[in-house]
Amino acid sequence: MKESGLKYIVIFLFALSVLSCKNDTAAKSGKLNVVTTTSMITDLVKNVGGDMIELQGLMGAGVDPHLYKASAGDVTKLTGADIIFYNGLHLEGKLVEVFEKMHSATKEQVALGERLDKKTLIGSDYFASNYDPHVWFNIQYFKQFVTAVVNTLSEKDPNNSANYSANGEAYIQKLDALEKEIKGIIETLPKEKRILVTAHDAFNYFGKSYDFNVVGLQGLSTATEAGVQDVQRLSQFIIDNNVKAIFIESSVPRRTIEALEAAVKAKDHEVIIGGSLYSDALGNAGTVEGTYIGMFTYNVNTIVNSLK
Ligand code: ZN
Repeated sequence: MKESGLKYIVIFLFALSVLSCKNDTAAKSGKLNVVTTTSMITDLVKNVGGDMIELQGLMGAGVDPHLYKASAGDVTKLTGADIIFYNGLHLEGKLVEVFEKMHSATKEQVALGERLDKKTLIGSDYFASNYDPHVWFNIQYFKQFVTAVVNTLSEKDPNNSANYSANGEAYIQKLDALEKEIKGIIETLPKEKRILVTAHDAFNYFGKSYDFNVVGLQGLSTATEAGVQDVQRLSQFIIDNNVKAIFIESSVPRRTIEALEAAVKAKDHEVIIGGSLYSDALGNAGTVEGTYIGMFTYNVNTIVNSLK
């Protein structure tokens, strides 16, 4: 008992010293300390803030935000942050309580998804927010995230506001080019083949934007496992609609989609696993798929090539 008590004190003192180092660095460099949750938001903030800010993203490649819990290191990062950007709409289901405990006059917490026009969002009974939180798959919403990040950084750091605006505009132009490119690729896929079957319902906004019928094996969150009935129902749907390919996701265990593949084959029909899509996390940092734009292009090429 005594020893473990001592251990906690040591850990606490260590965290405190790390924290004060971090604040010293920020104070010396004069840069804002910014913490982000998902890798999509981290990439966006990096594009706007560049080396004018100190940026720390909590969730890396393959990390599922629905199930993510803050580590002791994360709490240290969050405590030392001037600004926290997160998706909200209950995507980061287990992190919100940590945020709520951290009310501070100097800290800005921005739930980017919650600033969108709620009337245009896709509803959901599952989430406490009552909305489907996977809003980044609508590029127009992601552009609104950019504007919100530019405004928040400019308010907190007015000296660099012209640079934040210029970076934001340049990034929005890239997102416009992305939207155009993607529409061109999707147009090559006939409408009747636009059926996207994935592990969980992350792609509803994607489907709404590009006219896909989207069917997830699990519900909107990975916190609920798909049951035998779901697998049977969906395997029949695949057969009835002659769907050629189904998809795994980088942040969801592949066993659910493999069970679906097996169920279709057991009924003497052919279906392939068309590849792995990035849904709730980007690819590895430093790769093309480690950026939002690279992820989107990769997903669309994978989907269209497999369903053709
Ligand atoms: Zn999700």
